[in-house]
Amino acid sequence: MVLGWLTVEEALEKILGYVNLLEVEEKPLLDCLGQVLVEDAVSEFSIPPRDNTAMDGYAVRWDDIQGASPESPITLKVIEELPAGKIAEKSVSEGLSIRIMTGAAIPDGADTIVPFEDTDEEDQKSASGRGGVERIDIRKAWNIGSNIRLAGEDVVPGTVIIKAGATLRPAEIGVLASLGKPTAKVYRKPVVSVLATGDELLEVGEPLVPGKIYNSNNFSVASLVLRYGGVPKVLGIARDNMESLKSKIAEGVDADMVITSAGVSKGDYDIVKDVLAQEGEIAFWMVKMKPARPLAFGLLKTRDTSGRMRQVPHLGLPGNPVSSMIAFEQFGRPALLKMQGKKDLDKPTVDAVMEDSIVNTDARRIFARAVVTRRDGKYYARTTGPQGSGILTSMSLANGLAIVPEDVESVDKGDVVKVQMLDWGL
Ligand code: AMP
Ligand code: MG
Repeated sequence: MVLGWLTVEEALEKILGYVNLLEVEEKPLLDCLGQVLVEDAVSEFSIPPRDNTAMDGYAVRWDDIQGASPESPITLKVIEELPAGKIAEKSVSEGLSIRIMTGAAIPDGADTIVPFEDTDEEDQKSASGRGGVERIDIRKAWNIGSNIRLAGEDVVPGTVIIKAGATLRPAEIGVLASLGKPTAKVYRKPVVSVLATGDELLEVGEPLVPGKIYNSNNFSVASLVLRYGGVPKVLGIARDNMESLKSKIAEGVDADMVITSAGVSKGDYDIVKDVLAQEGEIAFWMVKMKPARPLAFGLLKTRDTSGRMRQVPHLGLPGNPVSSMIAFEQFGRPALLKMQGKKDLDKPTVDAVMEDSIVNTDARRIFARAVVTRRDGKYYARTTGPQGSGILTSMSLANGLAIVPEDVESVDKGDVVKVQMLDWGL
């Protein structure tokens, strides 16, 4: 067991050293949003597969519409109606045209599409009161090839269109679907056991009694797990005694990670330390940050279903509701992202001009709850008010964490600070 002061980076580096990429799973595209693609996606065919029309209109031969204008339209015979999804039965030869709908393949013989609005179709329809025209007046001499989307203009066969390692956003899910494959191979989502500890905790729904508080950490922490791509397994509350903690940990070790809150500060320290030391290795750290100074990290020893020894990373967050969330953002989030195959583990930051001041009394890195606004192309940040680590509403008011480095004694109004954006980089 190590008990020492670490910087945020040192603590994170140690934690990341113990978490590994999870296995690959193949599943339906719609279940893959936010997950990381394992193999390059390569198209075997052109997209679009054929030249097709970008407009509703008439497929014509460019030779036939030379000189067409509203004053001297050129009349063509209409030989077929072609909806999207059908291949024309006839071909377009001199003096002929095919009425064609957006997305339909260009008929043989045609080389140009004249949109409806450059024909007399509307006039004919309002005159006759019915659809279907037999002859059409072309009123504009469109250039050859106009309004045609070429085969392969989106994707050429054999090219990599999504690289392995990409996070699947809605656009990538759509691109994969355009390849015609119903599933994708992605790195599995981490299952994370979430456990609160403390004799003072009540579960939501129970009546409030003197001396007790509701267990909010399980809710904020499990929500963070979900937000960053994990599957929370909420274990409830372990009481501050060995049996309770041991039995809860036993319920949770089949996960990819166990995250506890509380019991890492001085008061409860011994019980948690003893239990966790029995179950595996554990280190208690003091991290040079504020809030969330005490942090525990360890490896719980267990056996997998085939009886092999397995080590499960255990992150012990501090108990104060703000501290547990901020420690999760700094340590839990990157650990979860690494397990899922993500490479960019940093929370996005902006440079913002402070609108009030923050004093750093004991050379720790301060993560101050802040409201970031953008005005005239610049970001501004002001603190949310009281910054106590028990004031959970300050997290709810904030959209960012303004960072005061450990070697800066204060930031004042007008100073530029880095602010981690809480809702960016999900
Ligand atoms: P501890 O680390 O056990 O000393 O807890 C630090 C502070 O966090 C105490 O005020 C606890 O009551 C509070 N706390 C611990 N766990 C939770 C929880 N699950 N929900 C809300 N507050 C908690
Ligand atoms: Mg406690």
